[in-house]
Amino acid sequence: MEKKAFVTKEKIEEIVKSYPTPFHIYDEKGIRENAKALKEAFAWNKGYKEFFAVKATPNPFLIDILREYGCGCDCSSMTELMLSNAMGVDGKDIMFSSNDTPAEEFAYAEKIGATINLDDITHIEFLENILGYLPKTLSCRFNPGGYFSLGTDIMDNPGDAKYGLTTEQMFEAFKIMKAKGVENFGIHSFLASNTVTNEYYPTLAGQLFELAVKLKEETGANIKFINLSGGVGIPYRPGQAPNDIRVIGDKVREVYEKILVPAGMGDVAIYTELGRFMMAPYGHLVTKVIHEKHTHKEYIGVDACAVNLMRPAMYGAYHHITVLGKENEACDYKYDVTGSLCENNDKFAIDRMLPKIEIGDYIAIHDTGAHGFAMGYNYNGKLKSAELLLKEDGSVQLIRRAETPKDYFATFDCFDIYKKMGF
Ligand SMILES: *Cc1c(COP(=O)(O)O)cnc(C)c1O
Repeated sequence: MEKKAFVTKEKIEEIVKSYPTPFHIYDEKGIRENAKALKEAFAWNKGYKEFFAVKATPNPFLIDILREYGCGCDCSSMTELMLSNAMGVDGKDIMFSSNDTPAEEFAYAEKIGATINLDDITHIEFLENILGYLPKTLSCRFNPGGYFSLGTDIMDNPGDAKYGLTTEQMFEAFKIMKAKGVENFGIHSFLASNTVTNEYYPTLAGQLFELAVKLKEETGANIKFINLSGGVGIPYRPGQAPNDIRVIGDKVREVYEKILVPAGMGDVAIYTELGRFMMAPYGHLVTKVIHEKHTHKEYIGVDACAVNLMRPAMYGAYHHITVLGKENEACDYKYDVTGSLCENNDKFAIDRMLPKIEIGDYIAIHDTGAHGFAMGYNYNGKLKSAELLLKEDGSVQLIRRAETPKDYFATFDCFDIYKKMGF
């Protein structure tokens, strides 16, 4: 697939008059079309629900758009639960899929009526000790171990992942929970990340559906939902074929009809907790070229850095780059595109072929709508950028202001130094 920016140079020149670079900008139209397609792809399942993985893009304005398509929230921490609750998301539309969970977070999740998804068998007792009872509905995260492969391709390595219960533990956990009065059960699993293939969900679903049938037979547990979690990916690189959510939905239906329906489990709800798939393609990090440097390599210095987008530095992740206004020029210059952190891995691109870049050019870094702004940090005293929404009518709305030095120093507000800065 060809990768095109959803903003033009002219649009950015207009936007920077109000909001200086760098900033993350999100495409409302793209978010809506994709959310609608997901909803339709799983419309065959009566109880289907997408719980958007809040950690991917914790912005209430964006989450509110998804809520129009029936999405709830999947939370991993106290602040994400607080945000979802403050947004008026009903407890039944909140999934709490955390791990190594602090006691107060379990207590708060229960208080706001969220569904709790346990990451370990010991959390049954941990939770019971906190609450004095077990909720009527509980879910467990499953980790079969080994490798997760599709055909001959190894997709990921669950055996090395800290998450979830083993197969034996799933059976034991369900027996214990049932004996302690739990009435409604859920099964959750997340076995491979950023899968760019239509086979991931159907294959995972097949494994979970078979497990569900056995769990029901052996423990008598009333299984209400199966949560396929996240992991459906996006084509970060040009030339990659995107997932087709309609095909994925149809294939999950096929396995559902093959495994669950004959077992008398045709009323089980399918849940998803997609993050990346919902948002990543619909965000750009927009940054301005402020320096060029010719030493042992050709460097382009921009006004964003890894605190605005950590994935390249952290995972060596590829993010496509468009030099705005030069979309049709030949890519015959090789650059490293860098930020200003005192870390040599602060590079958005290494040896990337791009059009000739000049100081003052605006660059769109693609696919930053999920795990982009959200992974931001403050190293080198850098401040987090604004987030903007490009609305369907072409107007732009500020959906998070940029951090200021006052925000950065706010945790010193009980000390004299804060007053000396004149805040
Ligand atoms: C991160 C995460 C997700 C979302 O993952 P994506 O790869 O963004 O789809 C969903 N569920 C859980 C439990 C997660 O930790």
